[in-house]
Amino acid sequence: TAILQLREIGKIYGNVTALREIDLTVQQGEVTCVLGDNGAGKSTLIKIVSGLHDYDAGQMYVNGELRHFASPRDALDSGIATVYQDLALAPLMSVWRNFFLGNEIRKGPLRLLDSARMGAVAQEELAKMGIDIPDIDRPVASLSGGQRQCVAIARAIYFGAKVIILDEPTAALGVKQSGVVLKYIVKARDAGLGVVFITHNPHHAYLVGNHFVVLKLGRVVLDEERENLTLEQ
Ligand code: ADP
Ligand code: ADP
Repeated sequence: TAILQLREIGKIYGNVTALREIDLTVQQGEVTCVLGDNGAGKSTLIKIVSGLHDYDAGQMYVNGELRHFASPRDALDSGIATVYQDLALAPLMSVWRNFFLGNEIRKGPLRLLDSARMGAVAQEELAKMGIDIPDIDRPVASLSGGQRQCVAIARAIYFGAKVIILDEPTAALGVKQSGVVLKYIVKARDAGLGVVFITHNPHHAYLVGNHFVVLKLGRVVLDEERENLTLEQ
């Protein structure tokens, strides 16, 4: 079922039309890949669904309800979490502290847990998704680039995200670390999340995508389901 739907969304900055009549549907248990060169409108799209900007035209629906987000908090409360390229992790803080960072207030009872228990929760949640971090007290900076992405994504999921928006999560990674992240994207998808995978890399998109949307100069120029992109005719 559709969790997030954009219908003919438009966004204008002064006299620049950054987005024009954008249709995008994010289904539960699917990866929607959004591709496009610089200037295509990807960042603007992220800002709209993450509550940093409102849209100027069209409609956005979350679980079938018409919504305008007034703040990032609104987006999070609606179950839409964005994992930015900088990940918003504190490099010198432990993995477990990062896991809870910024979210202590979102799940009340957790505030009462002691640090050993919080470490165990973080470790369990990560292990569930195939990320084994034996020493959860080590600084997040000591993890690989792929693991850091996974920690940021796992944190969003644990704190109630139903849709995760991933801003170029493999852009700074090599083959092996990209594999770590792509595998995690598949796990998140199979756990029933809606994933929006924003990327420049068509190969990475093809490895995990169910649905492909290509933006060019603020418009959708391709919108295809995976089965329509196979080589067999
Ligand atoms: P992408 O992330 O795909 O590179 P953007 O969403 O950043 O695309 O940009 C889409 C278009 O909107 C570009 O033409 C860009 O110059 C313009 N744009 C983005 N942000 C602003 C802004 N704050 N003010 C004016 N123009 C902007
Ligand atoms: P905010 O609403 O947070 O102030 P803006 O939309 O004004 O954000 O700017 C967001 C980002 O877009 C900034 O990084 C800014 O440098 C960039 N930006 C601003 N104007 C343009 C433009 N004409 N083209 C491309 N990017 C722009």
